[in-house]
Amino acid sequence: MTEAVLTLNAGSSSLKFALFPARGDRPLATGLADRIGPEGTLKLKGRDGQPVAAAPGDLRSHAGAIRAVFDSFRGQYPDLTLRSVGHRVVHGGVSHAAPVTVTATVMAELEALAPFAPLHQPHNLTGIRAAAEAFAGVAQVACFDTAFHRNQPWINDAFALPRALYDEGVRRYGFHGLSYDYIASVLPGEVAHGRVIVAHLGNGASMCALHNGRSVASTMGFSALDGLPMGTRCGQIDPGVLLYLMDQKGMSAAQISDLLYRQSGLLGLSGLSNDMRMLETAETPEAEQAIDYFVYRCQREIGSLAAAVGGIDALVFTAGIGENSRLIRARICARLSWMGIELDPARNADNGPVISAAGAPTTVMVIPTNEELVIARAARAAVGLTEQEAA
Ligand code: AMP
Repeated sequence: MTEAVLTLNAGSSSLKFALFPARGDRPLATGLADRIGPEGTLKLKGRDGQPVAAAPGDLRSHAGAIRAVFDSFRGQYPDLTLRSVGHRVVHGGVSHAAPVTVTATVMAELEALAPFAPLHQPHNLTGIRAAAEAFAGVAQVACFDTAFHRNQPWINDAFALPRALYDEGVRRYGFHGLSYDYIASVLPGEVAHGRVIVAHLGNGASMCALHNGRSVASTMGFSALDGLPMGTRCGQIDPGVLLYLMDQKGMSAAQISDLLYRQSGLLGLSGLSNDMRMLETAETPEAEQAIDYFVYRCQREIGSLAAAVGGIDALVFTAGIGENSRLIRARICARLSWMGIELDPARNADNGPVISAAGAPTTVMVIPTNEELVIARAARAAVGLTEQEAA
């Protein structure tokens, strides 16, 4: 019998998934169901990362896609027994500081949080419902992007707004928590207990200050819009701009949402692309300015987070840009020598893991993130497969 747990990351029309064995860190298979609907596609990779033929299936709905995924896995592992399904859920609200097994009560609670993350939460919950339908009786475990930050001190949780808004949940939640949780779990001993700033720089981008492995402050707030500029999201913005857009330009909430989430950031500034690889080679003044802005805001946030934890022992780069762009890493670090940050160009060119110069006071590292593994560990734990057993 092959016992396994499945991880799912459900978007509006996509499902990213990975099948993990009951023990060990390497998935048995990974894949993506995309354009769920009449033109749905399903791509699967085996343990070695090579493409594997997917079973034919009904890709018109999330539930159909999940069944097709499972049938494909069964083709590879005929004696497969699914113990649990772990779901990435963007919002766990005020109360969830850890993963939770989904019950009817939990589901109702998560549905009530949809207004806090209207672009993601409903799709994540569709994924849970679809998996519950496809695998009756199998535990569904919700793993939250907000959970890792829930124990931040009040001062980093609140906005300077009337208290009633705080009480109804208008707080700084911080996101990318599964990524930070993973990075915290693999930090080397000499920095694991120190003050570490983790820069999750991907299409979505944020930073988190850790002390002793716990989140103290982060750049994202109530929504995943705040902080750093991103592929298409604006990052930090003066709320006065939003008032101007509403009052003077008559823009609706939906129009402003589209502007801030989909048309801003690197795409808005460059007028060209949200893709950093493309901007690095574009050689237009606007693309260069977009990169300048991104780098500058990263530097400012590193300074701000270091102030929040009283210094810095290590800086960690992760996610698509952080793991792969030696140029962006070098440019961010170039003006941070006052913080003891000094890169070794050869190590940086090799993408780490340690990229700081020998003897530099602050360790700089590149650590590939692994959100799926964090979800798989939670899914295992929920059904009693402990990490000791799973190690
Ligand atoms: P993610 O959302 O973590 O998948 O990251 C996506 C971002 O990483 C996009 O902006 C990509 O252009 C960027 N990226 C991936 N590989 C590279 C690379 N080799 N150089 C620069 N940016 C990269």
